[in-house]
Amino acid sequence: MALKIWLDDKLVGQEDAKISVFDHGVLYGDGVFEGIRVYNGKIFELTAHIKRLYDSAKVIRLDIPMSKDELIKAAEKTVKANDVIDGYIRLVVTRGIGTLGLNPFVCENATVFIIADNIQLYPKELYEKGLKVVSATTVRNHPLAIPPQVKSLNYLNNILAKIEALDNDVPEAIMYNHEGYVAEATGDNVFIVRDGLIYAPPVEAGSLDGITRSIVIKLAKQEGFEVVEKNLTRADLYICDEFFLTGTAAEVIGIVEIDKRIISDGKPGKITELLRKKFFKYVRGKK
Ligand code: PMP
Repeated sequence: MALKIWLDDKLVGQEDAKISVFDHGVLYGDGVFEGIRVYNGKIFELTAHIKRLYDSAKVIRLDIPMSKDELIKAAEKTVKANDVIDGYIRLVVTRGIGTLGLNPFVCENATVFIIADNIQLYPKELYEKGLKVVSATTVRNHPLAIPPQVKSLNYLNNILAKIEALDNDVPEAIMYNHEGYVAEATGDNVFIVRDGLIYAPPVEAGSLDGITRSIVIKLAKQEGFEVVEKNLTRADLYICDEFFLTGTAAEVIGIVEIDKRIISDGKPGKITELLRKKFFKYVRGKK
């Protein structure tokens, strides 16, 4: 079924949702975006996602031509128009139509589009069995390049890391920063457990400030766990007791092998499973 897409200021049919070849989002990856879940017909953590979108835009000096409230309403309208009950929203703002030069300031109007659709998830058995991952050789963005906190349209570093994973017949790769510390996976944040404590690399180590990550930290603390944010090395991942990723699409998913080192008994750990179930309930219980 053809979708209805929000483009600039209204809903249009999927076949009419077209972007100019002169849009700097296409020519240079100049823009920002968000991926957001819909659970039970309600957009999950929409305010937090909108805030991150505006923060990303501010860093790259992109003016979003709508207020936060207008954008929230547009997202809600798009979800409704497509009857999405459990799904996924892609909200994108590009620099807009310009010339073939880099200069972003010749682009007069940013392009805004919103897609609300069903979601492609990892198959259920992967949540039960856990994922295998490899360490990527592609380094996460340097903080003085496009900062990793910015969810920009330029994901090529992460895409190169994803290719490394796929070349090794695993679905995900772990990315390290320019100092060799764990940053994140290609589209998810990293957690490990060791001796009953939960560790997460700090956002400054080069990750997106994940919204799922923040909720999982909150839920873990509610369960009485201590969550320590500190730099982690590759060896820390090799010798941990449990390892999991968090993200909007994946939610919480266990890792059972990295670079051919098996984590504990090769099954998602107890704390991972507890947090996965808590998160599952948290998002689906919220109306
Ligand atoms: N890191 C990267 C690079 C991401 O693209 C994402 C979102 N897919 C995440 C982490 C997880 O963030 P969130 O929980 O807000 O989806």
